[in-house]
Amino acid sequence: MVFACQADSFLVEFSSKVVSCEEAELKVVSNGKKTTVKGYEVVLEDTILFPEGGGQPCDTGSLDGVPVLQVTRRGAQAVHFVAAPLAVGAAVRQRLDWGRRLDHMQQHSGQHLISAIAEIEFGYATSSWWLGEEVSYIELDTQSVKKEEMDRMEEIVNEKIRAATPVTVKVFEEGDPQLTADRARGLPEDHVGPVRVVTIQGVESNMCCGTHVSNLSQLQAIKLLHAEKGKKNKTNLHFLAGGRVLGALDRCLGRERQLTGVLKGGPSEHVLLADKLQKTLKMCNKNLQTVLKDLAVLEAEKLKRLNPSPKFYMLHRREADSDFMSIFINEVGNQSALLFLTVGDDKGAGQMVLHGEPSAVSALGPRICSVLGGRGAGKGPKFQAKVSNLGNRSEAEELIRKFFEETRDQ
Ligand SMILES: [Zn+2]
Repeated sequence: MVFACQADSFLVEFSSKVVSCEEAELKVVSNGKKTTVKGYEVVLEDTILFPEGGGQPCDTGSLDGVPVLQVTRRGAQAVHFVAAPLAVGAAVRQRLDWGRRLDHMQQHSGQHLISAIAEIEFGYATSSWWLGEEVSYIELDTQSVKKEEMDRMEEIVNEKIRAATPVTVKVFEEGDPQLTADRARGLPEDHVGPVRVVTIQGVESNMCCGTHVSNLSQLQAIKLLHAEKGKKNKTNLHFLAGGRVLGALDRCLGRERQLTGVLKGGPSEHVLLADKLQKTLKMCNKNLQTVLKDLAVLEAEKLKRLNPSPKFYMLHRREADSDFMSIFINEVGNQSALLFLTVGDDKGAGQMVLHGEPSAVSALGPRICSVLGGRGAGKGPKFQAKVSNLGNRSEAEELIRKFFEETRDQ
């Protein structure tokens, strides 16, 4: 059957009798979690709520104020899933969520137009398409689409939109001689009932069950985004149509404003400024590495000059890294002092190394690591760990102090 939404895709309110209403369950995904909703499946004499089909998702809306969560096609019937029961035989007021529908119509008619131009201009047939929640794509039967080809397609489709090209839908009864072999292309062999043919005047005719705009001017604009390799030597051409073009532009401008604040320069300079920032950062990091190396050598020198040389030595450096600790240990050389080195956030995460006489290291390493909330391992004169709480360094120092007091007493 041809539903009211197909006969007139601009109906937003409609009244129709309830044919059946049966208890049912609907599986929905909300916030990534699958749940089951209890409700009712309602069939009406006719509907303005489009059941999914032809690549177009279903409409949402309400029946006598009860929200319709999903509409599916079952044979020739449209089945509405609602949360509350409706009386069989009663006429109910249908309301369509027009915003969602218009968006679907813009993407779907946009797809017909892009597919037609891709075929006419470049001979690229459409094998399927996907109406996404944000971006849609058309699967073209070609290995690649060049940038110049995309530019040309975008130019032509927008030309057709500017020309306010009419879009008409004709319904042909089964066996109608007017339904030529060409028009029936793609029609399944077992198809029964009327056939809808959607025509973009002067461009193409296509069989389709979806809801469409009545004039290409209602598409406002089409933006081709990018072409990427698809399945089996095909190419997916991503696009936006209608309100989605403005929505995407609005998001772009929002990001641009944020970047202007962050980079302290207007949009025309953003790339230049970001590039400059990255180069500066790279240079700073390089300089920091050099300075830290020099510092490790000097710090080691400081320790070597201590007289008498200490039993243990603590060193913490917020800006440093594991290289700094390794250089320090190498520079200190064969000193007998137990070295307790930490780098990273003064009160947060970082790294530790305990280096010295193996028995002291194996006795203290795991205990210090635990005090600093870390995980690590030791071998011979060295224990190293990643830690989460460098704020407990004084407790670790206390452990070392006690260890040496106890070993002195023995
Ligand atoms: Zn279609």
